[in-house]
Amino acid sequence: MRIGLYPGTFDPVTLGHTDIIRRACALVDRLVIGVAINRDKGPLFTLEERVAMVEAECAKVAEETGTEIVAHPFENLLIDCAHDVGAQIILRGLRAVTDFEYEYQMVGMNRAMDASVETVFLMAEAKYQAIASKLVKEIARLDGDISKFVSPDVRVQLLERLGKA
Ligand code: ADP
Repeated sequence: MRIGLYPGTFDPVTLGHTDIIRRACALVDRLVIGVAINRDKGPLFTLEERVAMVEAECAKVAEETGTEIVAHPFENLLIDCAHDVGAQIILRGLRAVTDFEYEYQMVGMNRAMDASVETVFLMAEAKYQAIASKLVKEIARLDGDISKFVSPDVRVQLLERLGKA
């Protein structure tokens, strides 16, 4: 059984993430979404809230693709999380060259720790490629329309959190 781990902060989960999740489902039998605690990034949503949002978004994708998808909160090293969930591959989304620089280092260091876990990169459909959670939050804060970037459910939760509902 092929198990993939797609890690991120998902603060909140966007249509870019969901597009990558849908593509990842074509490659694995079981997809684990690793939701990082990431205290350093100062998330707007708690870990529990981010996990719940990821689960809600993934339910539709799991139904469509027939792939089992589970959300797994983690605080340890990514490579240790991969071992914990039995993943042979780590999936990451690539946006611009700025992502590449960071990902290049991550792969190198993860490979030095365990060469048997392979990292696979996926690109979202063009219309979702520029989406970043950080920018979505900023646009919402400044009263911009975020409906092209997140699902209706996530939009409502984000606007509520920002006191704009
Ligand atoms: P962000 O960088 O938006 O805060 P995360 O840390 O949650 O998002 O990202 C998790 C993974 O999803 C990373 O591999 C990131 O590059 C990828 N990702 C996020 N948004 C997109 C997108 N719009 N297209 C492709 N990959 C994406």
